Amino acid sequence: MTRAKNRRQVDVLIVGSGFAGLGAAIRLVKDGRPDFVVIERGSEVGGTWRDNTYPGAACDVPSHLYSYSFALNPNWSRSFSPQPEIQQYLRDTATRYGVLDKHVFNTELTQAEWNATEQRWHVNTTTGNYSARVFVPAVGALCEPQLPDIKGIETFEGELFHTARWDHSALLEGKRVALIGTGASAIQVGPQIAKQVAHLDVYQRTAPWIMPRHDRTYSKVESLAYKHIPGLQRVAREAIYWGRESYVLGFSGVQPKLLVGAQQMAKRNIGKAIKDKKLRDAVTPDWQIGCKRILISNDWYPMLASENVDLVTDGIKEIRPNAIVTKDGTVREVDAIVVATGFHVTDSPTFERIIGAEGRSLGQVWDENGQAAYKGTAVAGFPNMLLLVGPNTGLGHSSMIYMIESHINYLSSALKTLDADGIATFEVTPDAQREYNEKLQAQMDSTIWTNGGCASWYLDKHGNNTTLWPSYTFRFRQLTRRFDIAAFTTTKETVR
Ligand SMILES: Cc1cc2nc3c(=O)[nH]c(=O)nc-3n(C[C@H](O)[C@H](O)[C@H](O)COP(=O)(O)OP(=O)(O)OC[C@H]3O[C@@H](n4cnc5c(N)ncnc54)[C@H](O)[C@@H]3O)c2cc1C
Repeated sequence: MTRAKNRRQVDVLIVGSGFAGLGAAIRLVKDGRPDFVVIERGSEVGGTWRDNTYPGAACDVPSHLYSYSFALNPNWSRSFSPQPEIQQYLRDTATRYGVLDKHVFNTELTQAEWNATEQRWHVNTTTGNYSARVFVPAVGALCEPQLPDIKGIETFEGELFHTARWDHSALLEGKRVALIGTGASAIQVGPQIAKQVAHLDVYQRTAPWIMPRHDRTYSKVESLAYKHIPGLQRVAREAIYWGRESYVLGFSGVQPKLLVGAQQMAKRNIGKAIKDKKLRDAVTPDWQIGCKRILISNDWYPMLASENVDLVTDGIKEIRPNAIVTKDGTVREVDAIVVATGFHVTDSPTFERIIGAEGRSLGQVWDENGQAAYKGTAVAGFPNMLLLVGPNTGLGHSSMIYMIESHINYLSSALKTLDADGIATFEVTPDAQREYNEKLQAQMDSTIWTNGGCASWYLDKHGNNTTLWPSYTFRFRQLTRRFDIAAFTTTKETVR
C-alpha cells in the first residue's frame, strides 16, 4: 500500500466531472473551500454530454430547466438543445467559475479504500495517488455503456459501436445498418442515420411510448428578453418545473387518469404517422404509459414507416460476421451495427473499486442486497463518502440537474457541519439507511414504475426499483437541505 506521505493530501476528492462533479466543484469554490481535486477519466468536463456525440443527441427536458440554477443561459438555441450546445455550456460554466485548474483530466479512479487508521480515503488513479478526508464519487448513472450479450457479437466484421461511444470515423452512408434498441438514444439517432443509409433494420425488444416533441427554436428577441428582462428566464424555468412536477400526480398513482389521457395522446401520435396496421400494432406498447421513461419524438414513427427502414421484432438469435440472425431464422445482412442498449446503471464497474470500512466493495455490497443509500448519498460501511446521484435519485419526469443540486446542497452542508463540530469521521447508521429505504420503497409500490406491467432499466436484478425517486423533486430538495447529523455515527477530531 502506498504510504500517506506519497499521496497528495486533499480535503475533498471528487470523481467525475459531469453536471454533478462539476457542480460540486463550483459549490466548493463558492463556499471558500479551495482544498479539493476532481479526477476525471475523460479529457474535459461534460460527462454524458462529452461522451454522447451521436447524431441527434439532445436533452429531452427543456434546456431552461436542464441547466444549473446558478448559471442560467439566455442563449439556448431551442427548447431541447443539442449535445454540442450543452457540452459548450458546461465548458463555459467551468471556465466562468474558475474550476478547471482543480481538475485532473485523463485520470481514472483505479481504487478508493477507506483507511481506518488515518481516517481518510486512499484513492489510487492512473496518474497518481491521493489521500482525502471526504470522498465524493460523482460517476454518473448513465455513463458505462452496456453492450448486449448476443451470441457471436465478437465475430462481427463490420463497424459496431454503442451510441455513447459514437465512431465518427465510421461512414454509414449508403450502407446496410442495424440499430439495436428503441430507447431514448435510439429514437434520437435512428431518424438521423435513416436519412443517410441504404437500409436500416431497427431491432425492437419492447416498444416505447412516444409523445410529440414540442421543440422549437428561440428567436433573437426571446434570447434578448431572457438576457435583459430581470427574472424572465427564472419565471420560464419555474413554469417548466411546475408543469413537470404535475406529472408526478399520474406516476405516483394519485391521479391515474392523467396517464390515461397521456396514453391516448401517444396512441394518436402513432396513428398519425403509421398507416400500416401491422406496423402500428408492433409499435404499440402493451404496458401502461409511464412505466418506462416516456420518450419524445416527431420523427421516429415517420422513420419507421419509410421505405428504407424495417422494424424487426423477432428476438436476435445470433450475430454473424456480416449478418444478424433472428429467432425465426431470418438472416439479415448488415455492414454496420449501432448498439443503443443503455448503460450499466446499478452495476457500474467503478463501484467494484470503492472499498469500505469492512474491506468490501460498494459493488459487492450492492450486488448482494441491491443498491441502497441514505438519501441517495451516504452508504453504511462507507465512512466520509457522499455519492452524488446515488440510488433512487433518478427521475422519469424532470431535470436531473435539480436532483444534482439538491445533493450538492447536502454535501456543502455536511462539510460545514464537520468543520463546525470538529468531526473527523461520519458514517450513516444502518438503521437510518434501512428506515429511509423502507419508507421510500413503500412509496414506490404505488407508482407506475413498479406496477405498470413492464420490465425496465429502473428495476435491478432483484426486481426492486433502486434507480428512481418516487415523489416530487421538491420533497427531495427539502430532505437534502441540511446535513442531518443525527442519522450518522461520528468521531471527533483529536487534534484541531
Ligand atoms: C443521451 C443522454 C441524454 C440525457 N438527457 C437527459 C435529459 O434530457 N434530462 C435529464 O434530466 N437527464 C438526461 N440524461 C441523464 C444525464 O446523465 C444526467 O442528466 C446528467 O448529465 C448526469 O450527470 P452526472 O455528473 O451525474 O454523470 P455523468 O454526466 O455521467 O458524469 C460522470 C463522469 O464521471 C466520470 N467517471 C466515471 N467513472 C470514472 C472513473 N472510474 N474514474 C474517473 N472518472 C470517472 C465519467 O467520465 C463522467 O465524466 C441523459 C443521459 C443520456 C445518456
